[in-house]
Amino acid sequence: MRETAQSVWNNCLEFINDNIQPQAYKTWFEPIFAVKLNNNVLSIQVPSKFFYEWLEEHYVKILKVALSKELGENAKLVYIIKMENTYGNKQPFTEQIPSSNRSAVKAQNVDVPLENKSPQLRNPFVIPGIRNVKIESQLNPNYNFENFLEGDSNRLARNAGIAVANKPGGTSFNPLLIFGGVGLGKTHLVHAIGVNIKDKYPEKTVLYISAEKFTQQYIDSVKKNNRNDFIYFYQIIDVLIIDDVQFFSGKSGTQDVFFHIFNHLHQNGKQVILTSDKAPVDMQDIEQRLLSRFKWGLSAELQTPDFETRVSILKNKLYRDGVEMPDDIIEYVAKHIKTNVRELEGAIISLIAQSSFNKKEITISLAKEIVEKFVKNTKREVSIDYIQKVVSDYFQMDVEVLQSKTRKRHIVQARQLAMFFAKKFTKASLASIGSQIGKRDHATVLHACKTVDNLSSTDRQFRKFVEDLHKKLSV
Ligand code: ADP
Ligand code: MG
Repeated sequence: MRETAQSVWNNCLEFINDNIQPQAYKTWFEPIFAVKLNNNVLSIQVPSKFFYEWLEEHYVKILKVALSKELGENAKLVYIIKMENTYGNKQPFTEQIPSSNRSAVKAQNVDVPLENKSPQLRNPFVIPGIRNVKIESQLNPNYNFENFLEGDSNRLARNAGIAVANKPGGTSFNPLLIFGGVGLGKTHLVHAIGVNIKDKYPEKTVLYISAEKFTQQYIDSVKKNNRNDFIYFYQIIDVLIIDDVQFFSGKSGTQDVFFHIFNHLHQNGKQVILTSDKAPVDMQDIEQRLLSRFKWGLSAELQTPDFETRVSILKNKLYRDGVEMPDDIIEYVAKHIKTNVRELEGAIISLIAQSSFNKKEITISLAKEIVEKFVKNTKREVSIDYIQKVVSDYFQMDVEVLQSKTRKRHIVQARQLAMFFAKKFTKASLASIGSQIGKRDHATVLHACKTVDNLSSTDRQFRKFVEDLHKKLSV
């Protein structure tokens, strides 16, 4: 049989899969595509430079073994990196030199010791006049990697953070942008990176600052006429961590000054770490040139943790606090608080407090009471089953009738309404909605949504159905 890139790569994968953790395999090998085979050279496409560096750092040996088995001792691997950072019609792919001469890949950054650069810095964090003060990192040592639990939801961001901590300024994740919703661990993670860097490289100047505080300092510096000192202060930092950069939106002066500081740091191989509540593409009122800088490195998302991760976060917290709690209570809390780790911790803390202050035993019903306080104002997502139930009740028919193949007009309409609301109120795809509502395809669902839109603007009776159902489903 003739060997193709695909067949060779599949054999490699089989070997690799047998030899590494399933989760690692899923994360680092499943996203790779075999692209071409040229004698003993296999080209594989990896999703980003980050991937390439990760593979090089952790899996180069096993890749080599696997490939040599397939293509002999002189086997070579070429990585093709899907470009992340270009817009428009630039060349979509770049080729990278293979694993063998890895030292050539990354430029080494030489760090000049701080003292030699400037003996008297003005430091906005210290009272003027005190000499020889070190810049305080403003890091919280309680936020570290050990107590930042790993799960599918944060694996990429956490591992990228570790990679950056190992070689600040020396990876392609510069800047490293961590984004995600509130309470998902952005601040914790960037502190952990900073704390870890300080441990490994005590001589490096690390600074954590919120975008809000940075903005305030900048405004003050303009008032006091020492904008240059402000800029200078930031330009001598080795690792600059700015939290919540969405705060810069609409503030063009701050964006401008940050742009200059960023460029200076980046050109000098210094590390920049940012967090934001949204991905760069969704950021508003941030200048294009700054957004494009944000995309130079790696943007890694923190997603909402799955159930297992929520349970381990809770258990870890309880363990560290030396508190014991029955598993069913922990699971109850983890099951009901889904979208925010801070709330998850808050609920468990209230539970401990309630039980110790009021000498109440921790029971499911106490847990229920407390959890309700936390989730009351967070909207719960309705399920497609629930929508079908509400719609069929409203039209006084059974769910089976709603799902049946019949073409009777009022049943068709009920089904279409169920599809319409499933689209509106859930994150399910058209295909998944279709399969759950009477095993229809995605085109049927799309058609249903359009029909409901049309009918509700032309038919008053129908509009009333939509409004009634909308009310029932949004409480
Ligand atoms: P954000 O900055 O994204 O709003 P924080 O970093 O303030 O979120 O995190 C909120 C709380 O959740 C913190 O107490 C943090 O320690 C905790 N937390 C978030 N993610 C994790 C995790 N993976 N493991 C342990 N604790 C976490
Ligand atoms: Mg935060």
